[in-house]
Amino acid sequence: MAKDPFGEYKLRVEEAAALLGLGHAEITALETPDRILEKEISASVDGKELRYPAYRVQFSNARGPYKGGIRFHPGADLNEVKALAAMMAIKCAVVDIPMGGGKGGVTFNPKEHSQKELHALSRAWVGAFHERLGPDTDVPAPDVYTNGEIMGVMLDEYEKLSGKNASAMITGKPLSLGGIPGRDTATAMGAVFILDAYVKEKNWQPADLRVAIHGFGNAGATMAGLLYERGYRIVGLADSKGSVIDSVGLNPKVFEKIKAEGKSLTDGAHGTAKTGEPEDVLTMDADILVPAALDGVITKDVAQKMTVKLILELANGPTTDEADKILASKTIAVIPDVLANAGGVTVSYFEWMQNKKGEKITRQKVNELLKTQMETAWKDVAEFAKNYGCTYRIAAFSLAAQRIIEAKRDRGVV
Ligand code: GLU
Repeated sequence: MAKDPFGEYKLRVEEAAALLGLGHAEITALETPDRILEKEISASVDGKELRYPAYRVQFSNARGPYKGGIRFHPGADLNEVKALAAMMAIKCAVVDIPMGGGKGGVTFNPKEHSQKELHALSRAWVGAFHERLGPDTDVPAPDVYTNGEIMGVMLDEYEKLSGKNASAMITGKPLSLGGIPGRDTATAMGAVFILDAYVKEKNWQPADLRVAIHGFGNAGATMAGLLYERGYRIVGLADSKGSVIDSVGLNPKVFEKIKAEGKSLTDGAHGTAKTGEPEDVLTMDADILVPAALDGVITKDVAQKMTVKLILELANGPTTDEADKILASKTIAVIPDVLANAGGVTVSYFEWMQNKKGEKITRQKVNELLKTQMETAWKDVAEFAKNYGCTYRIAAFSLAAQRIIEAKRDRGVV
């Protein structure tokens, strides 16, 4: 993890401010969260007392209700959650959906707890913050180590406390509770739409492109499968235990099966495939790298060794600030997280919309809407980068900052 994620966010704001000619008031508006909610949550399960620090940061609702996931992770502290909440406001503005930015977290390791304990803690999180949540106020979603099951339990607790049916108060829910088809594959799908647009512009052919993917959780595994189906050559895969590298190409389906059996990726290596450390895929000989694990994995040292043409950031914050400068000097293009992984929150927005209207959107419609939204966002960011002569990261951030400031100006608050 970056040492000071919120400090890095502020650096991004300064960069954008210089580019857009923003003044002190605008910078302060972009750097100040609307509200920080912080409580210790507790639950008692079969005589075991659980107590953990919990957060919800409501960063900005200038463009719509606060929106963003809740993570269960031992490293989820206030600095990180605040930075991620700010980045959600940026992300929603990049793809131009009418939502603001928020993020939640509980500092603990969910892998050390039973399902019953996780449910109890999920209910405790809602109990702590429910007065500040709601369809028109703040709409959470899954993030690292939370999922549809947790969202279902959180919805139930919220409805119990409020005495109302309120499916639009949370997204990423099971289909039986108003979830939307395609939400669990949306992050990877959105990135694929952007990659396809980029590849088409460059006149490249998927079959000539060698892709390495770091991380084989939901986003990484889905991404591997979608790219394989589209004819891209997957030459490297990694989970938290190891990597499998094969220049001939790997079939991700084989590895999904291996993982479903509870084994590691490396157990699926056969023939010409070589196994190694997870980090090996970051610096391997390939054309495209997709970081799809946790943040901060592309460090200065990694960046120095990299030879790919393009990095598509499926994880949040995989590249450190120092590494980013090296990549720019090596002209390695980076499609940043706030654009590359915005498919997740975009489909969350469709889910929220269908719940508010009491409708159901089909999978086909979801993918059509997502494609249009992502392609438009890519066009906007690429055009901004060209006009200002800056990287895609600076372009995406600055374009979003400009949209947030515009909303704040129109409200008369800056
Ligand atoms: N946690 C996801 C993200 O970082 C999704 C958030 C949402 O759907 O609200 O973008």
